[in-house]
Amino acid sequence: MLLTKQFQEASDVLEQIERYGYDAYFVGGCVRDLLLRRKIGDIDIATSAPPDVIQQIFSKVIPVGLEHGTVIVRHNHQSYEVTTFRVDDDYSDQRHPDSVQFVQTIDQDLKRRDFTINALAMDRSGNIIDLFNGQEDIRNGIIRTVGNGYERFMEDPLRIIRALRFSSQLGFSLEEDTLDAMRAVSNEIETIAMERIVQETAKFFAGSYVNTGMYYFKMVNIVKHLPILQEHPHIIKRLPRELIPLTSFGAVMALLHFNEPGVTIQEWAGQWRCSNKIKYEAEALNEALVHYQHNGLDRCIVYRLYADCYSDFAALVKMLFDDTVTRDMMKQINHSLPIQSKKDIVINGMDLRRAFPDKTAGPWIGKALNEIEKQVVLGHLSNDKNALKEWIKWNLHETD
Ligand code: ATP
Ligand code: MG
Repeated sequence: MLLTKQFQEASDVLEQIERYGYDAYFVGGCVRDLLLRRKIGDIDIATSAPPDVIQQIFSKVIPVGLEHGTVIVRHNHQSYEVTTFRVDDDYSDQRHPDSVQFVQTIDQDLKRRDFTINALAMDRSGNIIDLFNGQEDIRNGIIRTVGNGYERFMEDPLRIIRALRFSSQLGFSLEEDTLDAMRAVSNEIETIAMERIVQETAKFFAGSYVNTGMYYFKMVNIVKHLPILQEHPHIIKRLPRELIPLTSFGAVMALLHFNEPGVTIQEWAGQWRCSNKIKYEAEALNEALVHYQHNGLDRCIVYRLYADCYSDFAALVKMLFDDTVTRDMMKQINHSLPIQSKKDIVINGMDLRRAFPDKTAGPWIGKALNEIEKQVVLGHLSNDKNALKEWIKWNLHETD
């Protein structure tokens, strides 16, 4: 396989490790994506060198997961995850391997990996090690477990959701035995930490082939084992026929909430253990959708949403209302906004108090500023000290 520039740069790292007498390979998703000519996420490296040796070889090393044999090596301003060849011991709690055991050969390391398409390694000359016909499965677009599906899914049920997310990302089919095993073991999903489920589910909804993924998602019927969805299976049934990929999980929650307003975003975020950041994003998108339903795309929506939400908002509008809003339209509106945030308003609370010395300080100040903000954003009022004061004089009774 011909190495792309990204891999050529990373070859230095392999070469350095080899110079110390150890083996090192590119491994997993990066090899798969190179073969698929897909954009490479991270370049992961597997090596026979133990983590302490890697720490000695390279000057910039971040020990991120020493107990699993993983360190990050910084080289030429790039980060590489370097993991010592290992096998996972018993997955007795089905969440985390009890312990890992370092091994000597890449063959053993590849065997522990989830799917044949992910169990590929490549040396720095571009030779591929493929013990489970992963290249053939890539050519045929098939997701198949390495070894017995039932055992591999029992070992770590998260792999069930991973299989779905790879079908959504790659548009691949699930091989029949793999699919049967997923169905047979699906109840074990309930034993996995929610944080791991959310990570994979977010990637699932972001996949370019999310409709293929959803076909299998429904077939495996995993909603029975996921919080909230198990009590409200119609949320998935009611999803639009044509899903559009959503890049953030906040957008996914906004979509699911829209399908069943009886379940609040607060509840989603709580039961799906989401960060506050994701929760706020979901709330902002939800408010924008409700506003859109009544007013269409106006300046208020664009003003309130962060620019990195625009494409998700556009996707949600298309799915829920079959309207076309584009990120570019939103960017253009954003450029024309007179202010970008409250801070840009030329008067503040102090100014208001000074302008109206007879009034005692109170909630009227905040209310007045909110109303001013809205009127300025909508272009009904210019962001100019005198104009604002004049406007307040005439309108204050309303916000009093
Ligand atoms: P992406 O491009 O989305 O990062 P990826 O294939 O690199 O895809 P990761 O979750 O980053 O996926 O995992 C890296 C590799 O580690 C996988 O390709 C696979 O070989 C292995 N792997 C990860 N999680 C598991 C798991 N739960 N069970 C077995 N192997 C796993
Ligand atoms: Mg990866």
